[in-house]
Amino acid sequence: MAVNRESIAKVVSGNGIRTGQQYLEGLRDDREVWTGGKRIADVTAEPGMGRGAETLALFLDKQHSAEFQDSVTYMADDNTRCAMAFKAPKSVEDIKARGAAYYEWAKWSNGMFGRTPDYKNASLMAFASAPDFLSQGVKGPGGAAMAQNMANFYDYVRTNDKVLTHTLVNPAINHAQAAAGKYSAKVALQVVKETDEGIIVNGARLLATLGPLADEIEVFPSTVLKGSDENIPFAFAFAIPIATPGLKLICRDTYDHGKSHFDAPLSSRYEEMDAVVIFENVFVPWERVFMYGQPELCNQAFNATNAVVHMAHQVACSKLAKSEFMVGLMCAIAKATGRDKDLYTKGLIAEVMQMTETVRALLFSSEAQAHPDQHGNFIPLRSPLDTSRNLFPKMYPRMVEILQLLGSSSLMATPTEADFSNDLAPDVEQYFQLANLESKDRVALYRLAHDVAVSGFGNRQALYERFFFGPPALMASAYFDIYSKDSLVDRVDSLLSSN
Ligand SMILES: Cc1cc2nc3c(=O)[nH]c(=O)nc-3n(C[C@H](O)[C@H](O)[C@H](O)COP(=O)(O)OP(=O)(O)OC[C@H]3O[C@@H](n4cnc5c(N)ncnc54)[C@H](O)[C@@H]3O)c2cc1C
Repeated sequence: MAVNRESIAKVVSGNGIRTGQQYLEGLRDDREVWTGGKRIADVTAEPGMGRGAETLALFLDKQHSAEFQDSVTYMADDNTRCAMAFKAPKSVEDIKARGAAYYEWAKWSNGMFGRTPDYKNASLMAFASAPDFLSQGVKGPGGAAMAQNMANFYDYVRTNDKVLTHTLVNPAINHAQAAAGKYSAKVALQVVKETDEGIIVNGARLLATLGPLADEIEVFPSTVLKGSDENIPFAFAFAIPIATPGLKLICRDTYDHGKSHFDAPLSSRYEEMDAVVIFENVFVPWERVFMYGQPELCNQAFNATNAVVHMAHQVACSKLAKSEFMVGLMCAIAKATGRDKDLYTKGLIAEVMQMTETVRALLFSSEAQAHPDQHGNFIPLRSPLDTSRNLFPKMYPRMVEILQLLGSSSLMATPTEADFSNDLAPDVEQYFQLANLESKDRVALYRLAHDVAVSGFGNRQALYERFFFGPPALMASAYFDIYSKDSLVDRVDSLLSSN
């Protein structure tokens, strides 16, 4: 729903939630973003990038609309209206309210704008709620300062509605080295100097989704570092503005090729952009450092603060919205072709329905069994969310495959919007009709399916779902490790010992 920007600007002064216009203005700074061999002057005006920023601006505007405000924001104790993901949950109801807000945000793009700000905000809330954990970070000026730094950063992001990206993964020139929990000084991000004012870092990180369109970047620990002295320079967590001198973002090719919403319904709206991040002697002030020089502390961070649980909660809500959309799209195709009575077609779509209901059930289970955590908050039950985030990287590519199977050559029979108003119009009107759909509606439907299942945008979505939460093999291995299995083995032992 479009929201009047001018009226919003008058309403919001004093609020923690920003308007889309305020967000866009904030992106017009000195950030160093590169694409296609050139540095971008203004990301909001850049072809292939600006429309993604405009989409996020519209989403931020929705936080102000009467229709959504109560579900996606809350009034904080300091009387500031803030995005719901910042709310520290103190009850099962709070967990459900957070889940409802995540789901609402995701529905605005049907899950196709994956990196909405609530993802990072959920994690920031968890880190700020764990001062006892961060207080173990003793390096840098002032021992417990690290926890206070995090509390200050949380308040800054919360009350200014800043949009965050994050980058966790070091590039590896040798995967055996990386698998052994070590990093190469040639490429990995590391501390090269320490001063009274802060640290200076050099190197690169993979990958910052939304990086060019974010206000701040969290540079947090890559998850598995060997706790040896040689890894101390690679062990830290900090956050800095994207427009920090020496910080460079190198973008992948855009998937928004300037087409109309009719011709490219998703890529014309939801290009969120990914970028490799280069740090060339970047200065990070101490007040923005949250962990420092302690690999073992860094390794525990996402688990010990429960940030991973809150992030997985946001992810499950967003994947539910995305799965539902896939079911809707497939049913629309089946209906249009008259194949909604066909056994084979129904069987394929039923598979996607079952995947969707699996995500829904896991989410329900997790929220319904929310419980107090060690930091005074409530958290959703972790195991169903872990199950969901391990399953979805396999489910989504299968959903895409099923859409290809349903669409077949129709995914290629895609004249453009212009063909309905040029000399070709009579032909496309006649030859692209379906039993239950006029030609233009059929082309619109299959262009949407094309954008999901065939286009560069669609393929990047599948890659994103496979990898954004981490390497699937390592995630599965961690799942195995924390799975509650001893009592199950006991039952086997008990049977065998009764022989
Ligand atoms: C579209 C997209 C967006 C992303 N956005 C972000 C972001 O915003 N922020 C961020 O920090 N990261 C982001 N990532 C990076 C993501 O975290 C990594 O892709 C993921 O952690 C995998 O790491 P890698 O790409 O280095 O792959 P690799 O580690 O090189 O893995 C390649 C393959 O090898 C397998 N593998 C790796 N190690 C082992 C092992 N020890 N044993 C067996 N198999 C193994 C993996 O499962 C994978 O299949 C994004 C990735 C993609 C594709």
